Amino acid sequence: MRSLWQERAETLGSDGFHARGHYDVVVAGAGITGLTTAVLLSRAGRSVALLEARRVGALTTGGTTGKVSLLQGTMLSRIRTHHGDKVLKAYVQGNLEGQKWLLRYLDDHRVPYQTRTAWTYAERGGALGPLEEEHAACAAAGLDARRGDAAELPFRTAGALRLEGQAQVDPMDVLAALASELRARGGALVQGIRLTGADTGRARRGGPIEVATDHGPLTADRIVLATGTTVLNRAGHFALLTPSRAFAAAFSGPERHEGFPQGMYLSLDTPSRSIRSVPPLPGHPEAHGADDGGPRLVVVGGAFRPGRAPTAALRTELLDWVRERFPGTTPTHVWAAQDYYPASAVPLVGALPGTGGRIHSATGFGKWGLANGVAAAISIAADILGGNIPWARELYHAGLSGRGAEEAASLNLGVVGRLAAGWAQALAAGKGRPPAGDCEVAGTKHHVSRVCTHLGGVLQWNEAERTWDCPLHGSRFSCEGMVVNGPAVKPLRRG
Ligand SMILES: Cc1cc2nc3c(=O)[nH]c(=O)nc-3n(C[C@H](O)[C@H](O)[C@H](O)COP(=O)(O)OP(=O)(O)OC[C@H]3O[C@@H](n4cnc5c(N)ncnc54)[C@H](O)[C@@H]3O)c2cc1C
Repeated sequence: MRSLWQERAETLGSDGFHARGHYDVVVAGAGITGLTTAVLLSRAGRSVALLEARRVGALTTGGTTGKVSLLQGTMLSRIRTHHGDKVLKAYVQGNLEGQKWLLRYLDDHRVPYQTRTAWTYAERGGALGPLEEEHAACAAAGLDARRGDAAELPFRTAGALRLEGQAQVDPMDVLAALASELRARGGALVQGIRLTGADTGRARRGGPIEVATDHGPLTADRIVLATGTTVLNRAGHFALLTPSRAFAAAFSGPERHEGFPQGMYLSLDTPSRSIRSVPPLPGHPEAHGADDGGPRLVVVGGAFRPGRAPTAALRTELLDWVRERFPGTTPTHVWAAQDYYPASAVPLVGALPGTGGRIHSATGFGKWGLANGVAAAISIAADILGGNIPWARELYHAGLSGRGAEEAASLNLGVVGRLAAGWAQALAAGKGRPPAGDCEVAGTKHHVSRVCTHLGGVLQWNEAERTWDCPLHGSRFSCEGMVVNGPAVKPLRRG
């Protein structure tokens, strides 16, 4: 299930992996966060190896809706409720810097993007309260969001908020430009290599840190984990995050196509819907697979927790919703992506405790990681290079402080309950044998353990995506048992 962007993207080659090599910095994860961090550090003359477990943009950045916006659903009001106006302003400043950096980068590298008005709307009256709160939070943070009428949508709304001058990108174009700058500056981009561990004791004591990978060890002076969710258990980040997945689809228009909405829309209703259009590829170049290069409508929505939802039904629900609201459209790509909501409401960015300040990570972007991922990269690069950014200090300290502890505690109680119930059910069904599962790909049958290699959760079959998903912290595995999403780093046992 490749996204529209992943299918259009050119294949980026991989540099060689040199086991036992030494780098100033090893970055894990080639999404927006890892690639931006790697570029910033290589610009400052650091030797950088960027290890990507699968391929550039394989996970969330490659599956995003691609809005680079400060109007972010209920994000600002949520942060304001948890932390007050000072942290809210730091969040907005960080996002403005991330957004500005990214758009300047795209201008400098001639990567196309579109400036658009962002809209948050309520289709039904019940979502008007949260819309008002977000409006107030925007005002408190100095953002000029205004109430307006989302008249361009082909259905009625109860109310809407708009913010001018935001942007939308093809995320794979962005990653390709960053990857090519990294290489031009002598950085290594190594795809198909998974970081599986790091010697935190050595990080604390000083000296080169041993980095374990599934292809042999490396050493580095610093490590940056930009792996979506943090893959080392050191800070227990997995226990502070709620994984959230959603289906997305791209649609071609009806034959006599009058044009899709030009704004970028997000509803606050349940299930929520995120809508944007994609302009035709310049000159309608040759088709890539299912993509003829024509204009597209992209709709995302219906958040669910991995391992806990009827995925095939959710996918159908999204496609039916679009068919009803935008008659005559035809789905060309259907995919899903996953991001992480922090209990503290602000991203978790910074050095992991107990690592001597030498292993950094960035996670918890709550489905708004394009500006946030760049902001996190700017902050981590400054930490490594000896800079000091006041908004980052204020913001990320709040993310790692005790606020949100109650939410985190109830999150973990829920997880422990799931763990116990999953095992009780699986043992009963398997007459005391540990849970295992079968599936078939291209005529080959696979028998794998259904025990998550992260913390032992019982995996559930994701019918729509044909993966084994963990209901505890969102790890996912292919039918063959290979890791798709962390925090797991080890494949499933095969039978
Ligand atoms: C449905 C959906 C829609 C979204 N839409 C928007 C939007 O419109 N605007 C917006 O700003 N944000 C949006 N987001 C959020 C945004 O896409 C993410 O927050 C952002 O892309 C995260 O980037 P990242 O680089 O941190 O992680 P990722 O893009 O997930 O990159 C992590 C990389 O690390 C690799 N990796 C994992 N483990 C290892 C390991 N052990 N070793 C080496 N590599 C590893 C993975 O293969 C992956 O390539 C959306 C999210 C979702 C789920």
